[in-house]
Amino acid sequence: MQRDIFTEEHEQFRDQFRRFAQKELEPKVPEWNARGMSDRESWRKAGAAGFLGACAPVEYGGAGGDFLYDAIIMEELAWIRAHGMMISLHSDICLPYIETFGNAEQKQKYLPGTISGDIILGIAMTEPGTGSDLANVQTRAVRKGDHYVLNGSKIFISNGQIGDLFIVVAKTDPDAKPPHKGISLLLVEANSPGFVRGRKLDKLGLRGQDTSELAFEDCLVPVSNLLGQEGQGFKMLMEKLQQERLCIAVASMFSCRRALEDTVTYVKQRHAFGQAIAGFQNTQFKLAELATEVEIGQAFVDKLLAAHVRGDAIVSEVSMAKWWTTDLQKRLTGECLQLHGGYGFMAEYPISADYADAAVQSIYAGTNEIMKVIIARRMGLG
Ligand SMILES: Cc1cc2nc3c(=O)[nH]c(=O)nc-3n(C[C@H](O)[C@H](O)[C@H](O)COP(=O)(O)OP(=O)(O)OC[C@H]3O[C@@H](n4cnc5c(N)ncnc54)[C@H](O)[C@@H]3O)c2cc1C
Repeated sequence: MQRDIFTEEHEQFRDQFRRFAQKELEPKVPEWNARGMSDRESWRKAGAAGFLGACAPVEYGGAGGDFLYDAIIMEELAWIRAHGMMISLHSDICLPYIETFGNAEQKQKYLPGTISGDIILGIAMTEPGTGSDLANVQTRAVRKGDHYVLNGSKIFISNGQIGDLFIVVAKTDPDAKPPHKGISLLLVEANSPGFVRGRKLDKLGLRGQDTSELAFEDCLVPVSNLLGQEGQGFKMLMEKLQQERLCIAVASMFSCRRALEDTVTYVKQRHAFGQAIAGFQNTQFKLAELATEVEIGQAFVDKLLAAHVRGDAIVSEVSMAKWWTTDLQKRLTGECLQLHGGYGFMAEYPISADYADAAVQSIYAGTNEIMKVIIARRMGLG
């Protein structure tokens, strides 16, 4: 169906990005998947071509576009399965913290490098002992003179090995009541004394993406790297999570589309009992049902994209989209794998990776159960 949220400029941008991604990024995907991480050169190329700051402020080197430009990047990367290079984590999840809550000095120091690809960003919330229950983080930042002394460990941090600057969630007041009022956000450079990169974790899916442990061992962070005010960290996180969850839903729809399209091609070619698999009514009904759900999902995501660009508060609706689209992606990749038969289980068929990659979508950026907690609370339940 024709999508009506994009202007001609957006479509031109999509063509430009698609050409860039096909030439510079798609050929790198097998290498990223083998190494378990992307490469710095690709980030710099993306930066030089203007694809890391499509929505970032012009004064720092960005293009000042709306969120739809970055949504296009997410869609195109999902289509080519370039999960190793998480541009949306960098540009749409981390960068906005600095843009919105950073002071003039912080923006001047970090935004130009972020937009050029010289500074790769990550965000470190999750800890070995706590993920969903974010208010319970144990990483501690104690102010001593003009530095914070940071101690604690983080886990599952995307860009953990390649990243240069991390937004770290830490407790500056462990006695605050309620506990979330003791949380602050610090901008921590990877070359800070006491910053330790831990293991790059081996994973079921998203093989090209670097997901790592981080540790802070009396890590010294200048007080000037506090983002916003002490104790305001949780509030800032809540404000930015709407966009993070929308990013997941946007990419999820294009991962669904790609898996579906590849499966439609496959079932036309594969024969059994003297006919193409596509000829069985079961195949037709399954794919017809999935195609219907993809259109329904896309219509909802497009409505949310337009609302998000307008600046509407759509926390419940984005939570709905996050759980629904990612549940669809898990179901859809499972059904598509089944239609590939044994070949679907083989690594040489991309559907096997699609199936594994889909598993995390309902876990990160807030689990799908937490999405339902948010929706239910906003319905006045619980
Ligand atoms: C590939 C990958 C990349 C990631 N990248 C990052 C990153 O860059 N930065 C970062 O900070 N984190 C990152 N994460 C971590 C991710 O955000 C967490 O894994 C997620 O928030 C869940 O936390 P947890 O793993 O501790 O699960 P838990 O919180 O222990 O949850 C376990 C189960 O209990 C359920 N549960 C928990 N609380 C409730 C409740 N109140 N009601 C009902 N059910 C509940 C959950 O839904 C889940 O099913 C990443 C994770 C992965 C796998």
